[in-house]
Amino acid sequence: MNKVLIVDDSSTMRKIIQRVLRQADIAVDNVIEAANGVEGLAALESNPDIGLVLSDVNMPEMNGIDFVRNLRTTRTKEALPVIMVTTEGGGEMVNTAMELGANGYVCKPFTPESIRSALEPFVS
Ligand SMILES: [Mg+2]
Repeated sequence: MNKVLIVDDSSTMRKIIQRVLRQADIAVDNVIEAANGVEGLAALESNPDIGLVLSDVNMPEMNGIDFVRNLRTTRTKEALPVIMVTTEGGGEMVNTAMELGANGYVCKPFTPESIRSALEPFVS
């Protein structure tokens, strides 16, 4: 995978996700970070070669639901896979995100194994 976008309002969580990607042996050349959906959309605009998005659901400014809704107006599920990273009990929000065009989801706390199985269809 060339370029991955990680969208989460917690900088600690963004670092954890990057570490778990490494632990899951998912090779990523370049990671772009964004703290909310607004920053995520801007990052996609300036990095059209981003090939995969991992997005938190609960964020200020623009949450993961509105982020998915927005990016799907210009990029299809095939063109840009989006995996939601959600907390336990966020099931309803995840369902909404999936209806709006997210490709999958992984629940926090996640393991290298759960990350790998969520991303495997999209990173080979
Ligand atoms: Mg959050």
